[in-house]
Amino acid sequence: QAKETGRDSLKLFSSEMAEKTRQKLAGTEDMRRALRENEFLLHFQPQLNQRSAKIVGVEALVRWQYPTRGLISPAEFIPLAEDSGLIVLLGRWVLREACRQCRRWLADAEPGFRVSVNVSARQFKERTIVADVEAALSDAGLSPQNLELEITESLIMQDLPLAIELMNELAAMGVTLSIDDFGTGYSSLAALKRFPVSKLKIDKSFIADIPRDADSMALTSAIITIARSLGLQIVAEGVETEAQVKFLLESGCDHIQGYLVSRPLPPAELSMFINGSTSDIPPLN
Ligand code: C2E
Ligand code: MG
Ligand code: MG
Ligand code: MG
Repeated sequence: QAKETGRDSLKLFSSEMAEKTRQKLAGTEDMRRALRENEFLLHFQPQLNQRSAKIVGVEALVRWQYPTRGLISPAEFIPLAEDSGLIVLLGRWVLREACRQCRRWLADAEPGFRVSVNVSARQFKERTIVADVEAALSDAGLSPQNLELEITESLIMQDLPLAIELMNELAAMGVTLSIDDFGTGYSSLAALKRFPVSKLKIDKSFIADIPRDADSMALTSAIITIARSLGLQIVAEGVETEAQVKFLLESGCDHIQGYLVSRPLPPAELSMFINGSTSDIPPLN
């Protein structure tokens, strides 16, 4: 009896595995097609210097405009892209497109305006990132000073020596490196001194708990204090309320990104923010 059940569940298990594999292959094939047929697009979310009321940069966030399913969020397809290796091609396209769009905004933007692009571990592991960044910048005619790459702690920790080597090359080119989702990984603030990183993005899970949770507030202000003393810039992600802005300003963090300022938007809609007018942004003080 027990043996029978065991054999049945084993059979079930392997047919589930086969089904998962089949779905992955189909998904990968679909994504290849989508890349050929230009179904990916970028939305951009502004980063605001709250004190000067200036848009200092924008983060590029990829979406998939699926013919029959509407706009698909990256949470749904980036994992498969990473798994299949297609993230290398998709990431190359994102870099190129983000740099081109940034170049168009530069005339109207604040000096030092930057576009930031999310990078996956695979782009480091396959060592394509440096050449791809060089190609995207030269194709767009964009200076490296106008590009930022967002790297997660887990990417760095997957292969520390490789990450340090490639980060050094990118930083030497003049590209800004930032740590995305800071606080969710395992790297310590002390370890950051060994990386050529100049900016931290505090993860939105900390911000979401402000002002409800005293621990999150203590951690956030400690991160800000130490980051500042190490000479790092700081951006708070996922800022949705005025209470959060007030706390962040009091803690020494001037740069915010979140729905309170704007959702990620198609480039044409974001242009309004960049064309010198920040008057659409709600007053916060
Ligand atoms: P991320 O890099 O941490 O990007 C921030 C995410 O937070 C975005 O989700 C953004 O829409 C969302 N967000 C911004 N403000 C708020 C807010 O006030 N409240 C809340 N609840 N959420 C906010 P999105 O666009 O769905 O992207 C999710 C993740 O997908 C990104 O997280 C990033 O890890 C990944 N991703 C997006 N585009 C790319 C890409 O081009 N390449 C790679 N490798 N990953 C990407
Ligand atoms: Mg990011
Ligand atoms: Mg993030
Ligand atoms: Mg992330």
